[in-house]
Amino acid sequence: MIAHEFNIPAERLPALLCAMPKAELHMHIEGSLEPELIFALAQRNGVALPYADVEALRRAYAFTNLQSFLDIYYAGASVLLKEQDFYDMAWAYLERAAADNVVRTEMFFDPQTHTARGVDIQVVIEGLHRACVDAEAKLGVSAALILCFLRHLSEEEAFETLEQALPYATKFIGVGLDSSEVGHPPEKFAKVFARCRELGLHLVAHAGEEGPPAYVWSALDVLKVERVDHGVQSAKDPVLMARLAKDRIPLTVCPLSNLKLCVFPDLKQHNLKTLLDAGLVATVNSDDPAYFGGYMNENFLQTFAATGLTAQHAWQLAANSFEGSFIDDAAKARYIDRLNETFARFAG
Ligand SMILES: [Zn+2]
Repeated sequence: MIAHEFNIPAERLPALLCAMPKAELHMHIEGSLEPELIFALAQRNGVALPYADVEALRRAYAFTNLQSFLDIYYAGASVLLKEQDFYDMAWAYLERAAADNVVRTEMFFDPQTHTARGVDIQVVIEGLHRACVDAEAKLGVSAALILCFLRHLSEEEAFETLEQALPYATKFIGVGLDSSEVGHPPEKFAKVFARCRELGLHLVAHAGEEGPPAYVWSALDVLKVERVDHGVQSAKDPVLMARLAKDRIPLTVCPLSNLKLCVFPDLKQHNLKTLLDAGLVATVNSDDPAYFGGYMNENFLQTFAATGLTAQHAWQLAANSFEGSFIDDAAKARYIDRLNETFARFAG
């Protein structure tokens, strides 16, 4: 894709970031649960929460490390029991995404977080999938699902989850790998990813968020992923950077998540510009937006304000998000046309 030259007055850049069409490629649907919805679902399902009210829960969102985040994350997920709960969670996110001009989203879900609590995988997938179908019809948002294996669990458990999910294989487009990265390298899941590849599923994996560049190498060469989620640690390895650029492997970068989990001490020091200027297919995404301080446009606005990225970078990030998505070439071309129309509207 050839970057076009646009003359965008600097004061119009924030509005342009919000208005431009974009794809979100790294968002965990369980990480979109807002305190209000957690309480509403807890009441509907008669689940007791270890928080007195919405305000107490929101205060607890100021977690201090990964474990305190995971404690709240699992408490939040405990209110999800019925198909309608999964639908409502996805719908709340999809409406929020539409408001940010996200026109395509590929949402992660963690079936093991739910099957471990006795919720059938069918309930999870049917509820999420129905929201995706409605998003296309009612919001004009194209939405798809990617099933993630929890990497702190075993490969045998990943195989069990895959078996449970296969009757619903038309309702998700790929598999990913998430949860605690360090100590759980991609190659731990070599066999299950090979099986998913045979099944024709798309493959992605979290790698190089906190883990070393070696994890990105093994995600590429052992798991044979098509995209790397996060991948920001790749900048430490020039040979890896060259490989990612040459093979046009998208990196789904999540700036506010990186800030909250202290991957970078502050946004000014985020390496998104380095990745883009090296020719990598880097994208901006929200990861767990309810927990990490913002949805898509908030990620764009804060990152651009902190790092001095330009309108040219904005175009590249949006174009990269479409290039990196699992839609066909005709759909990509249509979205790029819409992107160019938006930029022309904002040009001086
Ligand atoms: Zn993630």
